[in-house]
Amino acid sequence: MGDSEIIYLDNAATTKIDSAVIEKMKIALEEYGNPNSSHELGNRAKNLVEESRIHVANMINAKPEEIIFTSGGTESNNWAVYSSVCTTKKRTIFSSEIEHHSIHQSIHEFRKSIGTKGHFVPVNADGEVDINYFQERMDNGVGLVSIMMANNEIGTIQPIKKLAEIAHRYGILFHTDAVQAAGKIKIDVKDLNVDMLSLSGHKFHGSKGVGILYVKSGINLHPMISGGHQENGYRAGTYNVPGIVGIGEAARLVNSQEIMDEIGLKAQLFWVGMKTSISDIERNGNPNLSVPGVVNVCFKGVEAKAIVLELSKRGVCCSSGSACNEGTTIPSHVLKAIGCSTYKSHSSIRFSFSRFTTKEDIYRALEIIVEVIKEHREKC
Ligand code: PLP
Repeated sequence: MGDSEIIYLDNAATTKIDSAVIEKMKIALEEYGNPNSSHELGNRAKNLVEESRIHVANMINAKPEEIIFTSGGTESNNWAVYSSVCTTKKRTIFSSEIEHHSIHQSIHEFRKSIGTKGHFVPVNADGEVDINYFQERMDNGVGLVSIMMANNEIGTIQPIKKLAEIAHRYGILFHTDAVQAAGKIKIDVKDLNVDMLSLSGHKFHGSKGVGILYVKSGINLHPMISGGHQENGYRAGTYNVPGIVGIGEAARLVNSQEIMDEIGLKAQLFWVGMKTSISDIERNGNPNLSVPGVVNVCFKGVEAKAIVLELSKRGVCCSSGSACNEGTTIPSHVLKAIGCSTYKSHSSIRFSFSRFTTKEDIYRALEIIVEVIKEHREKC
C-alpha cells in the first residue's frame, strides 16, 4: 500500500514529523561537532542546542535554563519521580489512576526497592481526578504529586493549576506529564505554577527519542545519569543534537490556537459522522473536558483488535488502547478507571488527529470504518 493511501488516525501514539523539522535535523546531522568541544565545530553544535532550548522554553513560557533535554517522555517522567524520592526523602507519591505507565511503573519500582508508597487518586466517568479525595489526603508527608495534564487514551484535561496549588499548600512538589497536551492545548508553566513538567518531541511533530524535563528555578533536582557535565551535570551523555534541534523546531512551529481549534472541529466532524452512520457506539470520556483530537469509541459487540487489524489492511491507522498496551490482552487501566467493563474496553478504539489530518482523510476513513464494522457485526 502506498503512503498516499494511508489515513493516519493514531496521532496520540506518535505524530508525523514535520518536513521543516526534518530539514533542520538534517543540518544538525551534518553539523557533527560535539557541543562540549571548545572549537569552532563544537561551538556551532552548542549554538544549535541552545537555540533549541530557547524555542522549547518559549513554547511553555519557561526560562531556557529551566529546560533539560532527555530521551523522551518516559525518561522525564521517571526522573521526576526518582528525583523527588532522592531530594525530599519522603516516600509517599500521589498520582492518578489513569497516568501513563512511565509514571505508574516508576512508582512501582521504587515500591519494590525502597518501599515508596504510591497513592492513586480515582477519577470519575469523564476521567477527571476527584479533587475532594485528593485534597483530603494531602499532608506534608507526601514527597511528590504527579498528575498528567491530558490523558493519552481519552484526552481528559486535569485541573493542573488547582491541583498544584493544593499540593503547594503542604509544601509538596508538583510534576505534570504534559506529553499529550503539547500541540493540543496551551501550556504555560508560570500560570500552572508546576515544579516539573515532561514533554516528548514525537507527540508534536518532532522526532522520537527526545523530550524535556522542565524544572522550575530553585527546585532541587537529583542527577539522572552520571558522567560528564552536560546539562549542568544533571544528565550526562553527549547531546543528541539532531533530536534536540528537532524538538526545538517542533516547539517553534507548535500549533497555534487556531490550528488546535481546527483539529477539534475535524475530530467532531469524525465523531458526528460515526454517530449518524453506525449504531450502538458510545464515546469514552467527555469531549468537553478533553484535548482536541482524541476520539475513543466503544463499538458494541466488536472485538477492537480485529477491527484495528482490518482497518490497517484497508489503510486506516488507529489503535485499541494506547500504543504501549498494543499487543497485550490486558484491558486498558484508563478505561477501567472510568468504569468501563473489560468487555467494553476490548471493544474500544482510539482515533487521534493532527494538523496533517485532512477532511478528505476523515470522509474516507468514515466510509471504511462503517464498512468494516458492518462486515464484522454480520459475521458475529
Ligand atoms: N506520557 C504520556 C501521556 C504518553 O502518552 C507517552 C507516550 O505515549 C509518554 C509519557 C512517553 O513518552 P515517550 O514515548 O517519549 O517515552
